Amino acid sequence: MKIQDIQALKSLLAAPKKIAIIPHRSPDGDAMGSTLGLYHFLKKYNHEPIVIAPNEFPDFLSWIPGSETVKIFEKDKENCSKILEEAELIFTLDFNALHRVGEMEKVLEKLTAPFIMIDHHQKPDSYAAYMYSDTSFGSTCEMLYNFINFLGEGQAIDKIIGTCIYTGILTDSGSFKFPGTTGNTHRIVADLIDLGVENTLIPALLFENSSYNRLQLLGRALQNMKVIPEHHTSYITLTQEELNSFQHVKGDTEGIVNYGLSIKGIHFTAIFIENKDENIIKISFRSQGGFDVNQFARDHFNGGGHRNAAGGKSELSMAETIHKFEDLVTKITI
Ligand code: 5GP
Ligand code: MN
Repeated sequence: MKIQDIQALKSLLAAPKKIAIIPHRSPDGDAMGSTLGLYHFLKKYNHEPIVIAPNEFPDFLSWIPGSETVKIFEKDKENCSKILEEAELIFTLDFNALHRVGEMEKVLEKLTAPFIMIDHHQKPDSYAAYMYSDTSFGSTCEMLYNFINFLGEGQAIDKIIGTCIYTGILTDSGSFKFPGTTGNTHRIVADLIDLGVENTLIPALLFENSSYNRLQLLGRALQNMKVIPEHHTSYITLTQEELNSFQHVKGDTEGIVNYGLSIKGIHFTAIFIENKDENIIKISFRSQGGFDVNQFARDHFNGGGHRNAAGGKSELSMAETIHKFEDLVTKITI
């Protein structure tokens, strides 16, 4: 982050302000962890922060401290729009293009307060007056830890802020396995553990808290998995009917895509999840090694993300989408 930006932000934050903090639509552990970590930090300095999520966050994140204060734009558009219009500063965390907030984009576009972006995705848009954007980081939460230190306020990070930050580092690094994980990541985590952050309880709350239905849905997903060994590729499909038959709730499909990479010799995988409400197929891509799924998602499925983890969507039917995907896979080297 530029020194002059840090200085400018220090002055902006010197007096209490109304501050809106926004994660991307369908927020994950990093989006919720970073926005709530920042929320608790700003509260300490007598600001009036509020986290406004574009839509509901999954239940498996509802234990994160402060999540009960989060406003959901989709559920209360009028009130949330008013809060946004009154905000003197807007933080956008864990995304870098306004379309990632869905319908809320229309409200954000009209705001005149300065935007601050903290994010680790590729190709940031230019809506923010202040940007801390760096794709080398494994999580926005790790960047938030640095950001607070850039402001010279590292001592403010306590167990609660640390718990939020730890959540995003853990979830976005695939439990410290993904390539963005560095020595610094572990040094930050060591610091957080010293502050009392519960590094055995948090993974249990996140990953060992499934419903029976979710595990049954996972079983179905694994049975649906197809492998294209000659192209080192696998993929999973889940139709709306299948999701309904397991009384699917938000968050149930989180992480299922990663199983596709756990087969020997598979370096590229995808999951196609039908959403009949929005009439789209939501897609997640994962790769291991050099194949750039961010580029693949951008080029073919109206999406983006990172080199080894990206997402996109298709407005074709499930069968047509799979046909398109298989056709593309045969034409590329993985
Ligand atoms: P996931 O597959 O876990 O939903 O997302 C993986 C990564 O890709 C995340 O960093 C996420 O922000 C990004 N991503 C997921 N869906 C989309 C999308 O539709 N558009 C863009 N630009 N990025 C996405
Ligand atoms: Mn992230």
